This record gives sequence, C-alpha cells and structure tokens, in this order.
Amino acid sequence: MPDAPPRDPLTAELAAIRARDGKTGRGLSSNVTDYLASQRDVRRLLAAVRVARDLHQPRPQRRYQPCEIHGGGNLAVDWVREVVESCPSCSVASVKVCVTCRHPCPDDDCWPCVEYQRLTTALTGEDNPR
Ligand SMILES: [Zn+2]
Ligand SMILES: [Zn+2]
Repeated sequence: MPDAPPRDPLTAELAAIRARDGKTGRGLSSNVTDYLASQRDVRRLLAAVRVARDLHQPRPQRRYQPCEIHGGGNLAVDWVREVVESCPSCSVASVKVCVTCRHPCPDDDCWPCVEYQRLTTALTGEDNPR
C-alpha cells in the first residue's frame, strides 16, 4: 500500500481538531486535558475565520456607465470622470467590491463576494450576509 501524500499544516491541524471534536463531542472523553484542548481549538478556529474574513472585506467603488457621447473617454483621467459624473445621460453607481477578489467580469466583483458568502454559509448555514 503506497504512503499517503504528506498533508499541509492547515489540513493536518484541521484533521487533529476534527479528531478531538469527535472524541469530546461523543462523550468518549471528559477529562480536563481534552476539554482545555477543545477550548484552544475554538480560539484558533475563530482566529482562522477572522483571517479569511479580513481578506474579503468590502471597498466602496464608483462604477461608470458613460453615454454614447462620453463612451470613448479614458475613465482613468480625472477630468473625464468629472465630465461623466456631471452628464445627465451618463450613469455613475456606488457599489461595494471585495478588496481581494477580482474576476474577469467586473460585474462579478460586487461584495459580498462568493468567498465571503461561502465563509458565512459554512459558519451560519445562511446566505446573504449583512
Ligand atoms: Zn472576496
Ligand atoms: Zn455623458
């Protein structure tokens, strides 16, 4: 039988936490050492979730939809943005995007991103975080 491939530290630690949880969760162990270990597990899992959450925070962004007259301008130039913002036919929307995630289509960058939603679902079992 071939050796199992080595696991990265994160996968190995999650397996160890799962094993401790399996022991204490089924009442197989009620000693103080296991209880204290599970308390440390909770703190470390919370810290890990916080790191993942902090990577997917919202950032305000203005999204420009120029009209036909102003569509050819370079929106990276300040004075072009000023013209577009003052034109009643152009539209400018304030949106929130993820500070980390970038997708091929900018319309898919809105926050909460897929990663934040998955994190929320894993933790709460609910969609649509606030
Ligand atoms: Zn994200
Ligand atoms: Zn315009």
